[in-house]
Amino acid sequence: PAVLGILQDITARKAYEKALLRKNHELSVLNAVAEAITQVNDLGSVLDGVMERLIELLGVDAAGVSILDDDDPQRFAWVHYRGCSETFIQNMRARIPTEGVLGLALATRELQVIDEIELDDRISKGAAVQEGFRSAVALPVINQERCSGVITIFTRTPRTFTVDDIRLFQAVAHQLAVAVDNARLYGKAQEGVRRLEALSEITRAIGSTLDVEGVFQIAGERLVPLVSYQRIAMLIARQDEWDFSVRLIDRAPPGEAPRVQLMKPLHLAPDSPLQEALHGHRAVPLPPGDVGAGEALGASPGPAAVVPIQADHTPMGLFLVMLPEGARFRKRDLVMLEDLATHLAISLKNARIFEDLEAAYLELRDAKDRLVRSEKLQSLGEMAAGVAHDFNNVLSAILGRAQMLKVILQDDEVLKSLRVIEKAALDGAGTVRRIQEFAKAKSDRAFIPVALNPLVREVVERCATRADGAQAPVEREVELQDVPRVMGNPSELREVLTNLIFNALDAMPHGGRLAVRTGYDPMKDRAWVEVEDTGIGMTPEVENKIFDPFFSTKGEQGTGLGMSVSYGIVQRHKGEFVVRSARGKGTTIRVLLPPIPTSLLEARPLGTAPGVELPWMLEVKTPAPFPAARLGKSARILVIDDDVAVREVLADILRAGAHEVVAAGTGSEGIALFEAGSFDVVFTDLGMPGMSGWEVARGIKTMRPGTPVGLITGWGASLDEAELANHGVDLIIPKPFRFDRVLELVDEAIRLKERLS
Ligand code: ADP
Ligand code: MG
Repeated sequence: PAVLGILQDITARKAYEKALLRKNHELSVLNAVAEAITQVNDLGSVLDGVMERLIELLGVDAAGVSILDDDDPQRFAWVHYRGCSETFIQNMRARIPTEGVLGLALATRELQVIDEIELDDRISKGAAVQEGFRSAVALPVINQERCSGVITIFTRTPRTFTVDDIRLFQAVAHQLAVAVDNARLYGKAQEGVRRLEALSEITRAIGSTLDVEGVFQIAGERLVPLVSYQRIAMLIARQDEWDFSVRLIDRAPPGEAPRVQLMKPLHLAPDSPLQEALHGHRAVPLPPGDVGAGEALGASPGPAAVVPIQADHTPMGLFLVMLPEGARFRKRDLVMLEDLATHLAISLKNARIFEDLEAAYLELRDAKDRLVRSEKLQSLGEMAAGVAHDFNNVLSAILGRAQMLKVILQDDEVLKSLRVIEKAALDGAGTVRRIQEFAKAKSDRAFIPVALNPLVREVVERCATRADGAQAPVEREVELQDVPRVMGNPSELREVLTNLIFNALDAMPHGGRLAVRTGYDPMKDRAWVEVEDTGIGMTPEVENKIFDPFFSTKGEQGTGLGMSVSYGIVQRHKGEFVVRSARGKGTTIRVLLPPIPTSLLEARPLGTAPGVELPWMLEVKTPAPFPAARLGKSARILVIDDDVAVREVLADILRAGAHEVVAAGTGSEGIALFEAGSFDVVFTDLGMPGMSGWEVARGIKTMRPGTPVGLITGWGASLDEAELANHGVDLIIPKPFRFDRVLELVDEAIRLKERLS
């Protein structure tokens, strides 16, 4: 009948229990959050997980976080929302950080609690209202003064958040701030490592290649994961040129290597933004579509950045990185490109040094080749000169005798044979003369200022018949540029050019193109004439020998003397040959000649140039017929020559000319005879054992200055006018003798004697 009840108020305990439970739950969530955030390498899934816990913990409908982009505070880099539609998430992604609830929190950097979104006039209503959200709390994520984003919770029914709710929310947000920071640092470190790896790979490649193409290729490959480029153009200033070489590299489809394309050189307008960047030190972003040299580089409508390449503060070029439309450069991209430019500059500098070295080496090798060739030709020349001298004496005897017999004998048959002998001897003498032409060290003719262009025109004109007469058509081209005058002998220079043109024509038996050009090489300070053909060309072996006397690939047709004579002539003109030839393609032979120094031109007016050739030095082209009865005076002549054949033939010729002759075999014998007797004229050989011709001439002149002295020498021997006069020589009697010419010289000597006495 009685109930004993104990009533105990457990409200407080329940509340306490509830609070405890909640605390527990809270702690476990925070714990989970803390654990999650240590997995820094996947910030995305951490964020998703934390948002889910937050929804559960606070009993809200949705939660999300937007993390700002490090490089661009106008954008969000990470956007993670849970408990909402995909449309809403898309909306949040497109959002800029000044809009809506987020914008408010970011702008104030303070917690924002919005009980009724629709009624709050501080925020624009959009996505949140559409999604049916009524209340929201937004909290900036701040770690060490840095605001890295905003975290928001939403409810679909109006809710007034308690102090506890807010406290918990703040705790989670704080944890998250640390996580985001860590992830950001980790990401940065990781990208830094990737970038360093790429750079080190590029540097390694640079170290092992001196080829610009290869370096650029590697840069293009390694940049793919680092910069979302569409195309990169590399412009490198060309040495000694005012334009740039251009290489392009396009992003290749995944799995393929990008390929470097070499483009036409490009000239940069002085007002081009590229030109400006070239002299700057930093990478400069260009507004989309404004590349300046746009078209040539195939600029896309997207943004681009110019990165100067400089070594030792000297601009070497630049590269232009073009992004696809809609992409953009981050600050660290530009910094990395600047780094890359530094490495490229080093490699380019190395490549240039290497190029210069190689050029120097080639130059050295050329110089050595030239030296070897000139030594070889020098000794060949000495040998040839010796042979020519002896051979000349032999020919003198044959020719003299033959010509004498022609005068004495009447028999037609014999005369015919004599003419053949005479012709053969004359041909032989011609060859000897050409050998001497090659071997001579000095020109026996005075040099005068020569204008090359008229000379070239004249020779080309003269060779025209030969070119027209060719079996196959030869196209002709003459290209004469401004060229300074040279000191030289016009007839010798004509001979060189004629030889070159004939050889060029010989090289084109099936026709082709012959070009003769003149010009001036400012680097070498040389006037030049070149003859180019599209003929058979030469092998390196042939090319090495073309200046050797008697070297010919033309068999019976060739004498092999054209180039050697030309070599001698050019040598005496202090010039040089440059030969370029490719088998089957053609040959270009250029003759470089030193121009007259301007000082010389000023000092000596042209009218008084030393161009006077002495009459006896003129060649007699067509022999005059031997006069049947000579009208000239008879003379008493002393002939001194150590070569008995020469001495006798000369004596006989003179006697045939009705002169009285006394002959001597040595200089001293001659002098003795001269002292004892009386002579009108003395003819002496030059090179004799014992007393030389020079000494004989001087001796005669000291005894009787009025007696003309003639020197017997081989054709073309190098004798200097001043030297001749100095030794008292008045005449030259060229060997081998031509009957008529010798007698003419005697007449001349007699006239001279009359003048002298
Ligand atoms: P030749 O013409 O009598 O053979 P050269 O001294 O003029 O003698 O030339 C020597 C050789 O050099 C020629 O036989 C030929 O092999 C070579 N040569 C010279 N010029 C040319 C040329 N333009 N193209 C090809 N070979 C050439
Ligand atoms: Mg020739």
